[in-house]
Amino acid sequence: MIVKPKIRGFICITSHPDGCAAHVQEQIDYVKSKGPVEGGPKNVLVIGSSTGYGLASRIVPAFSSGANTLGLFFEKPGSEKRTGTAGWYNSAAFEKAATAEGLFAKSLNGDAFSHEMKHKAIELIKNEMGPIDLVVYSLASPRRIDPDTGEDYRSVLKTTGGEYTNKNLNTDKGIIEEVTIGAASQEEINNTIKVMGGEDWELWINALDDAGVLAPGVKSVSYSYIGPELTWPIYTQGTIGMAKKDLEVTRARINSKLNEKYNGSAFVSVNKALVTQASSAIPVVPLYISILYKEMKEKGLHEGCIEQIQRLFADRLYTNDIPLDEAQRIRIDDLEMRSDIQAAVAKSWDLITTDNIADLADLDGYKQEFLKLFGFGLDGVNYDAETNPETSPASLA
Ligand code: NAD
Repeated sequence: MIVKPKIRGFICITSHPDGCAAHVQEQIDYVKSKGPVEGGPKNVLVIGSSTGYGLASRIVPAFSSGANTLGLFFEKPGSEKRTGTAGWYNSAAFEKAATAEGLFAKSLNGDAFSHEMKHKAIELIKNEMGPIDLVVYSLASPRRIDPDTGEDYRSVLKTTGGEYTNKNLNTDKGIIEEVTIGAASQEEINNTIKVMGGEDWELWINALDDAGVLAPGVKSVSYSYIGPELTWPIYTQGTIGMAKKDLEVTRARINSKLNEKYNGSAFVSVNKALVTQASSAIPVVPLYISILYKEMKEKGLHEGCIEQIQRLFADRLYTNDIPLDEAQRIRIDDLEMRSDIQAAVAKSWDLITTDNIADLADLDGYKQEFLKLFGFGLDGVNYDAETNPETSPASLA
């Protein structure tokens, strides 16, 4: 099959197996170029491991401390007629590269919120891996079926105050429009917390603990975002922000448990705003990211998921004295939040219109990175050649 991008709104409905492999390889090469992370984990479970921050969180321990990894995700395989999702191909490429270096790398595809997937992961850990010393929880999902009640919860991206209007990037047309985001009802807030809050992270830790598959000193980490004031109504003070607050409250409980039983610890890491499948769906944020990229690239401070997570492991998680903010969070959004960067972004935000977008924002960079998420635009890939849409992770083939 010859595969070209087909973009529909904020998603690309095709993905390129060889391009995804090249994207994964680029990340592996970066991690190797940074050298080993001393004291890094050896047996890692990544929940949400196929794209974005979760994929980077699988690549970093594997290629910087030789970790065995079990990756869990919700992706679609390809068929003769249709391409699979990018996360499916990313995971195929990851497994191939990791096993080529003698590392254990297996994957599970299914709903991480279900009891069934927790059970499958535990069986695999017991039978094939041994106790886990790092659990990364990096899910981004629009819905969750409660495993006990069967109730289907949907998350929403709304404010928790009144209506909010701001500039928004129409990524298809490359123009700036206004977007008005409505206020969520209490039920919508509760549902978003149910989907994106800490409940399922804690259920995972409890299940792993009950099964006796956590190692002494085990660490767990989940990801959050804060960002500047201009995105607060839609993010930090919006429904998703309420879910992230819940994640922080849960972290404290998980931390106490891991600390008491394993001399372990749990963290929330606040990461940089980046183009991923999840973030491109949030109103306002893609325009902020485009302006941010321009400022950070100009100052030589730009990072993608892999640079962020490499730094998280090397300079934070696996150091003797992990620096935390006043709310006990790890901050790797430090460069994004630097006052000179934020002042420049705020200035451009006020001035930006469709006419000056090329001067004030890195729209091309945004689009390139978006396409890369689906395996398009990578050097060395012949996009006119046949590629095999049925490429699959070896452990799931
Ligand atoms: P992403 O869309 O790239 O990845 C989401 C992952 O979750 C994928 O592996 C997907 O397969 C998996 N997934 C989704 N639903 C699932 C389910 N039901 N069962 C199993 N797997 C499922 O998202 P991302 O942007 O990397 O986000 C990961 C985390 O990082 C989120 O908590 C997000 O809030 C946080 N974060 C993102 C940004 C950003 O700018 N992208 C910034 C800071 C923090």
